[in-house]
Amino acid sequence: MTEYTYLHQSQPESESSLPDLELAWIGAWGTTETELPKLGRFGYNTILVQLPHPKSTGSLEIIDRDARKFPNVDPGYLTAEEDLETLRRGVVHGLEVGRKMIASGYDIKEELVPKEDEIDEFIRKVATGAYHLSSTCRMAPQEENGVVNQNLQVYGVKGLRIADASVFRKLVGVKPQATIVMIGEMCADIVLASLE
Ligand SMILES: Cc1cc2nc3c(=O)[nH]c(=O)nc-3n(C[C@H](O)[C@H](O)[C@H](O)COP(=O)(O)OP(=O)(O)OC[C@H]3O[C@@H](n4cnc5c(N)ncnc54)[C@H](O)[C@@H]3O)c2cc1C
Repeated sequence: MTEYTYLHQSQPESESSLPDLELAWIGAWGTTETELPKLGRFGYNTILVQLPHPKSTGSLEIIDRDARKFPNVDPGYLTAEEDLETLRRGVVHGLEVGRKMIASGYDIKEELVPKEDEIDEFIRKVATGAYHLSSTCRMAPQEENGVVNQNLQVYGVKGLRIADASVFRKLVGVKPQATIVMIGEMCADIVLASLE
C-alpha cells in the first residue's frame, strides 16, 4: 500500500499565505445550461475556478419598512480588477491541467473552453457566485458595524442570538458548512452554560 505524506506549507495565521484560487473538478457542469450540447452517450466534467477570498464588494439596500419587500442586492461581482486577474490565472491553470490530462492519455476532449485571447470576456460572461453568502450580521464590536458579540447576542436586543453564516467576520476561504455547524454547536454550548 502506498503511503502519502501531505506537507502543509501555508501558515494559517498569515493572510498573505492563504490560497487565492480553488480549482474543483466537477461532474456535469458547463458554462450556461443553454450552451451545453446534447450529452449523447458522453459525460461532462468542468474545472471550476473559484475565488476563496474575492476582493469585490457589492451593496444591499433596504427599500421599504415592510420586511416582506425584497431589498436591492448588487453583488458587485468583478468590480475589483484583482478578482479578474486572479480568475484569469485560474482559468489559464485550469486549461493547462485539462490539456496535461489529455496529453497523458485521458479520453477527454475540450468543449466550451475559451481561446487564450478571450479569457477575460469568458470570465465576465460566465462568472457567478458560489452560494457562500455570509457576514450580514458580523461578529464584531458595535462601533465597527458588528451585529452580534462573541456570545452571538444581538446588540440592543434582549434574548436574541444568531447562529448561522451571517455572523462570520468575513468569508471563510473554504466551503462554509463545517464552520456553520461549529457555530451552531457553539451556540448550543453557550445557551446550556447560561442555564446552569
Ligand atoms: C446549491 C448549493 C450548493 C452548496 N454546496 C455547498 C458545499 O458543497 N459545501 C458547503 O460547505 N456549502 C455549500 N453550500 C453553502 C451552504 O449550503 C450554506 O453556506 C449554508 O447552508 C448556510 O447555512 P446557514 O445556517 O447560514 O443558512 P441556511 O442553511 O440557509 O439556513 C437558513 C434557515 O432559515 C430558515 N428560514 C429562513 N427565513 C426564515 C424565517 N423568516 N423564519 C424561520 N426560518 C426561516 C430557512 O428555511 C433555512 O432552513 C451550498 C449552497 C447551495 C445553495
